[in-house]
Amino acid sequence: MRFCSLGSGSKGNATLVQSDDALVMIDCGFPLKVTLPRLAEMGISPEQIDAILVTHEHGDHIGGVSRLARKFQIPVYLTAGTYRSKKVDEKTTVKFIQPDTPLKLKDMVINPVTVPHDAREPCQFVIEKSSRSLGVLTDLGSLSVHVQNAFSNCDALVLEANHDVDMLMNGPYPPSLRARVAGNWGHLSNQQAFDFLQNSGDNLPETLVLGHISMQNNSVDKVKDIFSPFESQVSIVHYATQDEGYGWLNV
Ligand SMILES: [Zn+2]
Ligand SMILES: [Zn+2]
Repeated sequence: MRFCSLGSGSKGNATLVQSDDALVMIDCGFPLKVTLPRLAEMGISPEQIDAILVTHEHGDHIGGVSRLARKFQIPVYLTAGTYRSKKVDEKTTVKFIQPDTPLKLKDMVINPVTVPHDAREPCQFVIEKSSRSLGVLTDLGSLSVHVQNAFSNCDALVLEANHDVDMLMNGPYPPSLRARVAGNWGHLSNQQAFDFLQNSGDNLPETLVLGHISMQNNSVDKVKDIFSPFESQVSIVHYATQDEGYGWLNV
């Protein structure tokens, strides 16, 4: 199995996961004119995509889903709560997923995991194939025991390091937005992401990508500094950016 990203952050997200038989996209927050050239850069044509898995209805995750799905007849998998937000139009083929109920798609097993985030029925995903697993964990405000258990044994992990708390508190956001981002249903700070890895003990992933990094309230340099202790323990550490995401990595 391998994975890559077309971009990561509050202006748009899309992750590709490919096994021998299946190719899925997690979220699509980009318009077609951005998605298609970025897919081509990854060597993928949209006709190859078997499914789009949607984590929640925020625009940076769902904004480009319907256009892409309809144009290339790709089924969209989402929770009933996410569907009720009406961000996916009625002509889109949808399949409902139940949080914490695994589903099989060709040779992949997809586990939607409930996360604390301010959306109707958000989930993030752990995808397994032949005893190897990838976790994609962004857009959550706190680390529930459920999340820690579900994601702490992944062989590869994409983990949100959204903001530096000092930069957020002294940054350009109005107080209400600051409170939302820092709250229990907002986004993970660098420190919370660090704590997640610390709590994972001996179960650190072999490949770690830090993503959904805020462009206003964080910087890749800051994230690199904080996570440098893990660079000696994890074989590959990447930092995903809004414009470039990251290229293919093996699970
Ligand atoms: Zn997001
Ligand atoms: Zn969100």
